[in-house]
Amino acid sequence: MNQSAPNGFGFTPHIVATGFTTAFLGDERTLREFVAGDLVVRTMLKRGRVSVLYLINDTYDPLNERQLRVGVNKDPALIEKFKPFCGRPISEIPDPYGCHDSYALHFTEALLGRLHSLDIHPVVLDSYQAYQSGLYAPFVAQTLEGYAAIQERLAANCQQYTPRNLFRVQCPECRCIDATDIRGVEAGWVAFHCERCGKDMRQVTGAVRGKLAWKLDCAARWNLYQIDTETFSKTHFADLGTLNISKFVSQEIFGGKIPAIVKYGDLRLSRELSGRLLEALPPRMLKALLTTRLRRDLDLTRDYVENFCRKYTIRPGVSYVDYVRQELPRKALALESELERPRQTSSDGHRESAENELVAFGNRFSAFFYNKRYDVRFPVAEAFDGIEPATLTTARDAIRHALHLRDGGMHDSEALKLQIKNFFADRPSAPGVYPFLRKVFGQTDGPNITSLLAILPRNYLNTVHLVLSALTRTPREDHETVAFDRGEEKAA
Ligand SMILES: [Zn+2]
Ligand SMILES: [Zn+2]
Repeated sequence: MNQSAPNGFGFTPHIVATGFTTAFLGDERTLREFVAGDLVVRTMLKRGRVSVLYLINDTYDPLNERQLRVGVNKDPALIEKFKPFCGRPISEIPDPYGCHDSYALHFTEALLGRLHSLDIHPVVLDSYQAYQSGLYAPFVAQTLEGYAAIQERLAANCQQYTPRNLFRVQCPECRCIDATDIRGVEAGWVAFHCERCGKDMRQVTGAVRGKLAWKLDCAARWNLYQIDTETFSKTHFADLGTLNISKFVSQEIFGGKIPAIVKYGDLRLSRELSGRLLEALPPRMLKALLTTRLRRDLDLTRDYVENFCRKYTIRPGVSYVDYVRQELPRKALALESELERPRQTSSDGHRESAENELVAFGNRFSAFFYNKRYDVRFPVAEAFDGIEPATLTTARDAIRHALHLRDGGMHDSEALKLQIKNFFADRPSAPGVYPFLRKVFGQTDGPNITSLLAILPRNYLNTVHLVLSALTRTPREDHETVAFDRGEEKAA
């Protein structure tokens, strides 16, 4: 492939474009566009082709009520407050949460945060800014100057497509861009009607504000940004001739650039899964899921996702579900214990944070799909109710013994577990201790008691030991404590 720039020096990167309108953040359904674009970029890079992902943000587009409701999480007060802004470009609407310069920028940052978490790093091109700074001016001028002629050519060449508005005028009075209708373009004037204002108006073509109709805008940006590949949803594709019209406009009017199109199917998501996949699937897996049979529609249900996770291997021979069911119960508890130990090298730190992340994703997956979470839990008072003193004493001594072995340098190993097991073997009160400690540790399933004593964090075991010591304290020990307190008083 030729990577040289036209002057023969350097190279021009392969530009892959994706698009969005940051009128809301939404759930996983909006991600297929970017995951598809990212896949193209990565494939190009693997083939040695320098490639860049663009996110063309249609911030000149109007806000509608459906987007507003999703954007503000159905907050009735915010809906009421922002309804009057519907119809205006999202770049000119204030941030509902007051933290950014505009409504559009608030959701741009949220979207970028999400994409970065998936290791997708697009360059954002803001359409509103591009129009304001005059980047689209040549395309707009061409469109307005040849308005009627372009309409006729489209009608003749594109299956009788006769667009009324090649350009969306932004009303100079109400600032809306969704309710204007061009009535004629002649001799340097644009005549239009604003439905919201109920008025006929006219402006000179050089002064009129607004943006090209979507199909023309698409053709303009192919040429403006020299786009080589663009992702295109099936829905846009299905809108009969969209692509053909954009191709025709680009070829005949705007400069001739036509990108390769990567088409992707619709993504449907069962309601219960909305927002869950981002939490429960590690990024690499989520991306693999969303690019499954990319050109086809994807119906994500609980069963489909669980089945995918049974097949997806996180390392050779271990599927994600295997990991969650077999390794997570131990890993989730052992990890906190490992964090107590000093790190040897910085690569230990990387490994730890990667493992930590996998545990966090796995736990959210397990909580959602199997209703089970694995973590260190502090004992509840009821666990100690009505327990025989002998059981309390054995439990206390078992924890002390385990801590002693671990202080002596034994870590989570078979040898350590064997020694703990031997400790129980010698004690007749042991059978009652197992269920009691399970309750105290709040671990109804997962690793067995010897494993728990070997892997639970030492600080945690120390605390439980302290509680058990207090409960099994003899009167003589009480006396000593009192004497000790008095000694402190005297010293003070
Ligand atoms: Zn904000
Ligand atoms: Zn108006």
